[in-house]
Amino acid sequence: MATLVSFDPADGQPVGEVPITPVDEISAMVARARAAQPAWAALGPTGRRDALRGAASRMIEAAEAVGLQLTREMGKPLAEGVGEVRYTGKGLIEELDEMVEAFTAEVVEDAYTRSEMRYDGLGVCAAITPWNFPFSMPHWMVLPALMAGNTVILKPSEETPLTGQAYVDLLGADLPDGVLQIAHGADAQGKALVAADVDLIAFTGSRAVGQSIMAAAAGRLTRIILELGGKDPLVVLDDADVASAARFAARNSFRNAGQVCVSTERIYVDEAIADRFVDALVAEAGKMKVGHGTEDGVRIGPMVNQRQRAHVLRQLAAAEADGARRLCGGEAGPGAFLQPAVLDGVTHAMDIAREETFGPVACVIRVADDDEAVRLANDTPYGLGAIVFGGDEARAAAVADRLDAGMVGINRGVGGAFGTPWVGARQSGFGYHKGIAGHRQFAQVRVISRSKPKPGKRS
Ligand code: NAD
Repeated sequence: MATLVSFDPADGQPVGEVPITPVDEISAMVARARAAQPAWAALGPTGRRDALRGAASRMIEAAEAVGLQLTREMGKPLAEGVGEVRYTGKGLIEELDEMVEAFTAEVVEDAYTRSEMRYDGLGVCAAITPWNFPFSMPHWMVLPALMAGNTVILKPSEETPLTGQAYVDLLGADLPDGVLQIAHGADAQGKALVAADVDLIAFTGSRAVGQSIMAAAAGRLTRIILELGGKDPLVVLDDADVASAARFAARNSFRNAGQVCVSTERIYVDEAIADRFVDALVAEAGKMKVGHGTEDGVRIGPMVNQRQRAHVLRQLAAAEADGARRLCGGEAGPGAFLQPAVLDGVTHAMDIAREETFGPVACVIRVADDDEAVRLANDTPYGLGAIVFGGDEARAAAVADRLDAGMVGINRGVGGAFGTPWVGARQSGFGYHKGIAGHRQFAQVRVISRSKPKPGKRS
């Protein structure tokens, strides 16, 4: 059987391998999932929760080993790899309880009618996921899909098949046959799943692949949930605390080697404080140790592969040729390493200001005032996250109101309180997930109504 080998991007060494799922086996997997679905749905939300809750302790116990494998597969620092697995396990019970609430039927009544609103499974869900958070991204799709009463086939990224397999093994240990399956491979397996007889496609990945999935799904009007790329802006107002804005900008531009969908990719700084901000940002970048994720003190590991790094290097070179100034970083090391770069003098004529970079690059664009910052921040087809830093919270909040993004952070990152959705505006998403409203996108709403007895009539 053909295998998919996973390589360490730091040194090119193989980490492990999985069998590739032959494309012509996908329809049999879907048939197995369809056969398993009615009994899974019949358990109801609490029965499904009970079948899944044992995964919490399994994930916490396996966090060190699976986190190490994750770090070796895609490069992020070990503490972040282990943390990704551990926090998924730690949060599981609370998430399951929230999903029981989301998928439990509600009664809505008026004077004449009593309606039951049900949140039922759609059938078979295909979950197709990226490599940048290879444990939590599958979780964000698979868990609500299962809890809604669907059976699921996960197609993890070909860059991180071992972590995808570990996730399915840990989550699925107590599940009946056919409820959760995994298909390994690359775009061919993804396309085959999209074309198969599935009822919902939950996808997290690039905008280009999202567009092709949407087009392919149109033929059968298959339901889709797309969480796509971003080009997130950070606006730094003239009254911002420069040191903390620069510290935040470095962390949010370079974390996970810049390979986070809500990484800061563009920084609009008021020209009154721009020199001080840029100096502080370069100093922060210089403090971040680059190296193998398993080395002590490393803050930035290698990028996921040399192809992704080549894309970043091309954008950097083109921006410099058009007049941007590279103040630090940008040097390519062995493996897929790239030193964190700060670019000043970026303009919107440059590709690097418009297309997703997904690498350790901070692009600084100097602006005259808040209006120019807002206009440029919104000058993109993306709309995932946006952040504003400012001293006067009311003024920062007024700027936040004008930023066209699904999630906006004021003097902090974009992540919302537990219960709020993860949501992209514009071309960063189509549908969303998390929170009661997000969970329900994995279900079919059904309204079952009956008449109420007329007042005064004996029943
Ligand atoms: P990608 O789009 O290249 O691949 C994602 C998945 O789709 C992989 O499993 C891949 O094998 C599969 N695939 C590729 N072509 C396909 C096709 N034609 N049909 C079906 N499946 C196909 O993305 P990536 O490089 O793995 O991940 C990085 C991207 O993901 C970035 O754009 C990032 O912004 C985005 N992302 C978004 C979010 C979010 O919440 N919005 C979260 C994480 C990552």
